[in-house]
Amino acid sequence: MAANRAEVLVIGGGIVGVCAAYFLAQRGAKVVLLERDEICSGASYGNAGLVVPSHSIPLPAPGVVAKGLRWLLNPESPFYIRPRLDLTLLSWLWRFRRSCTEEHVRTSLPSLCTLQQVSLALFAQFAAEGLPFVWQRKGTMTVYNTEQGFEDGVREVELLRQHGIAAEVLTGEQVREREPLLRETVVGGVYFPGDAHLDPAAFVHALANRTREMGALILTQTEVKVLEGRGRRVERVLADGEWQVDLVVLAAGAWSPQLVRPLGIPLPIQPAKGYSITFCHPNFLPSLPLMLNEVRVAVTPLDGRLRLGGTLELAGLYLSINQRRIHAIRQGVAKYLPSVSGSKEVVWCGLRPCTPDGLPVLGRPHRLDNLIIATGHGTLGVSLGPITGKLVAQMAAGEPLDHDVRLWSPDRFLR
Ligand SMILES: Cc1cc2nc3c(=O)[nH]c(=O)nc-3n(C[C@H](O)[C@H](O)[C@H](O)COP(=O)(O)OP(=O)(O)OC[C@H]3O[C@@H](n4cnc5c(N)ncnc54)[C@H](O)[C@@H]3O)c2cc1C
Repeated sequence: MAANRAEVLVIGGGIVGVCAAYFLAQRGAKVVLLERDEICSGASYGNAGLVVPSHSIPLPAPGVVAKGLRWLLNPESPFYIRPRLDLTLLSWLWRFRRSCTEEHVRTSLPSLCTLQQVSLALFAQFAAEGLPFVWQRKGTMTVYNTEQGFEDGVREVELLRQHGIAAEVLTGEQVREREPLLRETVVGGVYFPGDAHLDPAAFVHALANRTREMGALILTQTEVKVLEGRGRRVERVLADGEWQVDLVVLAAGAWSPQLVRPLGIPLPIQPAKGYSITFCHPNFLPSLPLMLNEVRVAVTPLDGRLRLGGTLELAGLYLSINQRRIHAIRQGVAKYLPSVSGSKEVVWCGLRPCTPDGLPVLGRPHRLDNLIIATGHGTLGVSLGPITGKLVAQMAAGEPLDHDVRLWSPDRFLR
């Protein structure tokens, strides 16, 4: 059977792959996107939909390990590691711990802040151009029900302000004036007016449709099984058939490492499972998204529905739903808000592709000339999706990049 040909082959139809395909097609590239399942069937589907420059402090930061260890002892905490002897997990945890320094926060924060803000502007542009998705720029509010949490939050605000993130520190009363649903137990909050939110699945589907209209070929139910290398190139991509390619963009989220491991490219990405519960016709809707700090749950009003999203579970590449976590999310929310109900509840889980230093992976690995890796966005894949796609297109065209993403290079894991 004759091989298919693709000028640019994108692997993965989540927000990152679809944004990459869109910006590549916009520059006139002949793009083929292969998705194993349906478009937006991975982490990009049921997440909290927050576009949050305010959350630019990377996951590994001073104090996180101690907090994580305390949480591990509590089965209802927002963090869990499934105990197992897995060398890739152990090495990931070791690298994560090594990244928990002031120095790492200082070097990572500028790129995350800037690129989230640029990405937010790209979302706004898509909305202004009439792309059909729910897009709201009302900001977000992080709320605290412990004095210690609030103090830590205020310290983070100082750091974020130095990088251009606007923030209003609020007392408990001021928080309740803005959102009267919040309980008396809430001691304070921070309002971030520059944040936004959207229905992530509506966005990805709308952009995929537009990308098709621009001439890209999007094939679903088509799993890439092997990337075959020869010399400094990916020579063939084996899916249902065989593809000869000029350039491959790997955007397969948490499943990316297994595709490049045989090519000798280490990609230390752990799948970090998170859950959401979406209520149709909920008994209440906050006026803006809330981040419930101590329980790490996001509460997002989505076009008449209410979504609760949270939990970070390092349990491998499994999509089973642990009811204990769902219960923990509900219990956690009840500490801040009335108990939620709705006419229908949809429980979902997804795997965030998490790197040990909390930075995405974006760039060409030095071993191969025709591969761009775009993954590892962890808790920020929605926020950073559009700018990642735009930078992929600039890399593919060999143009100077609008932004310096050397810190996000895939080669950093060789050190
Ligand atoms: C509960 C929860 C809440 C979250 N909230 C937010 C938030 O508010 N804001 C934010 O910015 N981020 C949030 N995130 C993180 C965000 O969802 C992810 O970072 C983002 O969706 C990752 O996008 P992706 O395109 O890299 O991966 P995915 O969406 O997982 O897409 C990867 C795709 O590749 C496909 N694929 C895999 N292997 C192959 C193969 N071999 N061949 C073909 N296709 C393949 C998969 O089927 C999948 O569709 C949240 C995540 C969770 C779980």
